[in-house]
Amino acid sequence: MDVLDPATGKPITTVCLGGKAEIDAAVSAARDALPAWSAMAPDARTQCLLKFAGLIESQADDIKQLSILDGGLPDMIGDSTAWFSALFLRYYAGWPSKLTGQTLPSSPNGLAPSDVLAYTLREPIGVVGAITPWNYPYGMEILKIAPVLAAGCTLVLKPAEETPVASLYLAELALQAGIPAGVFNVVNGLGEDAGATLAAHPGVDKISFTGSTEVGRHIVHASAGNLKKVSLELGGKSPVFVFPDAKLEQTIPGVALAGFMMSGQNCVCGSRLYVHESIADEVASGIAEFMKSISVGPGSDPANMIGPLISERQRDRVEAMIGRARDNGAEAITGGHTLPGEGWFVEPTLFRNCSSDMEISQQEVFGPVIAMQTFDDSQDYEALAALANDSQYGLSGSVWTQNLETAMRMTRLIDSGQVGVNTHAAMDPSMPFGGNKQSGWGREFGEAAMELYTKTKAVTLAWT
Ligand code: NAP
Ligand code: MG
Repeated sequence: MDVLDPATGKPITTVCLGGKAEIDAAVSAARDALPAWSAMAPDARTQCLLKFAGLIESQADDIKQLSILDGGLPDMIGDSTAWFSALFLRYYAGWPSKLTGQTLPSSPNGLAPSDVLAYTLREPIGVVGAITPWNYPYGMEILKIAPVLAAGCTLVLKPAEETPVASLYLAELALQAGIPAGVFNVVNGLGEDAGATLAAHPGVDKISFTGSTEVGRHIVHASAGNLKKVSLELGGKSPVFVFPDAKLEQTIPGVALAGFMMSGQNCVCGSRLYVHESIADEVASGIAEFMKSISVGPGSDPANMIGPLISERQRDRVEAMIGRARDNGAEAITGGHTLPGEGWFVEPTLFRNCSSDMEISQQEVFGPVIAMQTFDDSQDYEALAALANDSQYGLSGSVWTQNLETAMRMTRLIDSGQVGVNTHAAMDPSMPFGGNKQSGWGREFGEAAMELYTKTKAVTLAWT
């Protein structure tokens, strides 16, 4: 399969497409490697992960260039890729020695308390199948690889077809880091073939999926055969509220970037903007003005903060959604066009006059499009929460205000897995991340990910 550079539309390399035979081979390699890897002394796994992190950092420039070529990332995000990956690996490198159980004050089965010890063991869940999207190559993969390996599990990774290079490179570095062959396996291939085979595979104990809500549903069905455990990080349509007391000089760039960073190809993107009517003109024209300072173009030029969309198909989809939003009465305050020339670029687009029933307010665009609405003093916090929560999704959200009561009430009322005050989509390895409603099942990052990849065994030990 050709791998295309989204900034030019031209092939950069080719990769092999794996199918059922390759998934079978990879799952069996992961099964074979599981006993030794899970029985390894915690410190030995820690050392492997630390070495892996160091190798990634030592290749930061290659990784940056590859993520720009393969994933169409802007220079600034490309710069963060190796750093982010190493940060996650180091965080999880500390976990093998902290996967503890509990001793319990229990004396079951009529045993005398003096004759029994009840305790729990924390065990790796087994062979994990990981399926990832294309929007942040290296990062998306490391979010799975790091906790899975720390937990003592082995892994078969099926990356997105649009960004197959990152995982191959990571697999090579993993071997150099001393992670034994078979522990971390990569099969490039198509979702409906390699992905679906992995999701349904009887030799897989758990699927960790990141991608669209639609494919998430397929994963759930496919997993039913052996009732494997499933966690899902899915789409979003996250609300952003700007109150009249917000500091506009920080709010305007903040909400613009919340919507447009990574060309909106970002699950946590703040794509629904609700602004108090008293400042709506100022915020809308402020975003339009700010966007004049942000250039759109290939990530190979560090001046460009906004890169291309990942594929021609995605560009066409976003273009069609922009057209329908216009037809339905939304007004483009800035942007609204596809850029001519090579590559798949769409101008960051702010729509005003949106309403909650419009497609642009309900469906994830996964492109640089913000749908803005206004609110007024007649709407209390509950009414604003109803606006925020009028969505099948519940991934992220933010509230921009200097008022403590507004911040506290809104953060409690918004139904999402994360919410920011005067910041959007804060990410840190220690903070749990995941979605409510149709944005997902479970939480990744932090200790929460250790729950995803381990299982608890209750042991009762009697000595009479
Ligand atoms: P996608 O189409 O759902 O694909 C995700 C992965 O699933 C790809 O590897 C894909 O393979 C594979 N796949 C497709 N059909 C499959 C099937 N029937 N069985 C098993 N696997 C299958 O998503 P995408 O277009 O790559 O990425 C965009 C979506 O990801 C957006 O909805 C976005 O919100 C979501 N996302 C969520 C998060 C989060 O953490 N919540 C983070 C990033 C992105 P192919 O590449 O071959 O199609
Ligand atoms: Mg896809």
